[in-house]
Amino acid sequence: MRRGTRRSLSAAVCLALLFCFAAQTVRADPPDREPRVALTFDDGPHPGRTKRILALLDRYSVKATFFILGCNAEYYPEPLEMAVRAGHEIEDHSFDHVTRGKTVRELEESITKTAEIIERASGRSPRYFRPPEGKCTPELDSALATLGYDAVFWTVDSRDWTGKPADAIARDVLKTVCDGDILLFHDYTCPGENTLHALEKIIPALLSRGFRFVTVEEMFARSEN
Ligand SMILES: [Zn+2]
Repeated sequence: MRRGTRRSLSAAVCLALLFCFAAQTVRADPPDREPRVALTFDDGPHPGRTKRILALLDRYSVKATFFILGCNAEYYPEPLEMAVRAGHEIEDHSFDHVTRGKTVRELEESITKTAEIIERASGRSPRYFRPPEGKCTPELDSALATLGYDAVFWTVDSRDWTGKPADAIARDVLKTVCDGDILLFHDYTCPGENTLHALEKIIPALLSRGFRFVTVEEMFARSEN
């Protein structure tokens, strides 16, 4: 039952990814429900950037989802603890961002090692996994199935990882975003502070449009209702 639900959710995520631009027909919402959007951050925690993003989220009382790397969390436990204390969702992005060429067993170890770090920091077991570079392999699919994770991708890529200027990130995200979107950002790999400065424009703009920020878990809980 649980596994079936998870597979359905994964399918829903893939559908959202494929049909983002036809979202009005896929995600018809009751007119009395506010539009929702999920901010997600990959590759952290980072000792400086994660903290500054957390401060911005706190300023607007916005909750987000962080797909962390276990190796970075081992180096920088403090920003992870801060994210937990602030009530953000912490999920798994592998231990070292390497999935290609690994066996099922090695992938399971990478995912589990990161999950143990998340459990120690938060007391909660992750249930979602974001495949590094958004790529699934048969080995990764097998590892996720064995461990009971859902693979979660995104519907809008901010492309902050390219070094794109903050103004362009904000412009393109705000032009594209629609109800039910999962937005991809990074709190580690991006050069400079373009992610932070883009979010300084994106968050208040979406709040003014009536969007509610939810975690990935909340987004999918809505789909199950
Ligand atoms: Zn990544």
